[in-house]
Amino acid sequence: MLMDGKELAKDIKAKIKAEIDDIKRIYNVSPTVASILVGDDQASQVYVNSQVKSYQDLGIGVQKYFFSKEISEAYLLNLIDKLNKDTEVDGIMINLPLPPQISTTKVLNRIKLIKDVDGFKAENLGLLFQNNEDFISPSTPAGIMALIKGYKIDLEGKDVVVIGRSNIVGKPVAALVLNSHGTVTICNSHTRNLIEKTKNADVLISAVGKPKFITEDMVKEGAVVIDVGINRVNGKLEGDVDFENVQKKASYITPVPGGVGALTVAMLLSNILKSFKANRGII
Ligand code: NAP
Repeated sequence: MLMDGKELAKDIKAKIKAEIDDIKRIYNVSPTVASILVGDDQASQVYVNSQVKSYQDLGIGVQKYFFSKEISEAYLLNLIDKLNKDTEVDGIMINLPLPPQISTTKVLNRIKLIKDVDGFKAENLGLLFQNNEDFISPSTPAGIMALIKGYKIDLEGKDVVVIGRSNIVGKPVAALVLNSHGTVTICNSHTRNLIEKTKNADVLISAVGKPKFITEDMVKEGAVVIDVGINRVNGKLEGDVDFENVQKKASYITPVPGGVGALTVAMLLSNILKSFKANRGII
């Protein structure tokens, strides 16, 4: 069965919009997010454009801070300090990657906790590892969990294999799965006998970034296959999974595009709503 991220994202966005509209009616305030982009990374620009379109659809104001790749770390840190203090700014979205002269960790950690709408600040990740519900979850891992929950897949006691250990996908999604009582194996490029691990997976989450990396022989019959990968092949988007062949074996599978990616933006919007309420003291 295909896991339709687009349809699910539509429902989630409608609920967020209804809540934003209610808050606007009662308190006469609406959320504003500061969107920061440094450099001309094409994938980031595409992602930022889709964020801005969603902000407009939902009545979220956006302040755009788009810079050339030469800006200094000090300049960016200074901007974040100003945005942290600005009571009209509810969330700060740093679009990655940042250029090499800027420390990503330093910049992400500088964001005020409640304005960290992408959930990458060390404190937010710490709260996630504590299974503390106050945390803001990184959007893509939250999107994966929304898909799993949306299709009523119970992770309790399941063998879940995550391929990839990045700070933005692999590690946080593994923590979220653990919090949902799954048994997690996290693989990376040094993993030996990868196929032995993947064949054992009730739920396989691939966040590698290599087209057709997950082949049919790597997947257990009836497995749930979540494809996080985004690869551009001959001008078209493809995931990590050899979709045509793997779909015959999987009980559930996400398409690319229209799977995890669709949920990522929806989860970012949900985080913005959470930050907005916290920043304005709305319960
Ligand atoms: P990343 O930082 O490049 O991480 C890729 C991971 O894959 C690394 O941990 C790497 O291991 C592992 N890997 C590479 N080759 C492997 C192999 N042969 N066997 C096992 N593991 C291997 O990428 P990312 O930022 O996590 O993103 C992963 C993919 O998801 C990309 O295609 C990206 O575009 C996509 N993505 C999609 C969304 C969305 O909304 N759908 C959001 C974010 C990212 P090492 O750590 O050992 O190098």
